[in-house]
Parts: sequence; structure tokens; C-alpha cells
Amino acid sequence: MAERVRVVLACDSCGARNYHTTKAKSRSSERLALKKFCPTCNRHTMHKESK
Ligand SMILES: [Zn+2]
Repeated sequence: MAERVRVVLACDSCGARNYHTTKAKSRSSERLALKKFCPTCNRHTMHKESK
């Protein structure tokens, strides 16, 4: 049974927390970084895992 943890993705430019997702706990050593649309910046930016 894979345990999943909730993570928040925050814009790397302005710090706005725009997305939340889940990930497998076994991969918790690596930080998620995804390119997502930020409504605050009004463009796509890198969004990184935040707590
Ligand atoms: Zn932003």
C-alpha cells in the first residue's frame, strides 16, 4: 500500500500557492518542480513543492 502525502506547489517567482497535489511518500526525498500557470504572475512559471 503506497502511502501518499499532500504537497503544495508554490510559484517560484511570487510565492503564491496555486496548486496542491499528492505524491508517493517513497519519493519524498526529491522536491517536485512543475511548470504551471500562475494567475498572479499571469504566465507560466516554475512551481515548487512547499509546506
Ligand atoms: Zn507567481
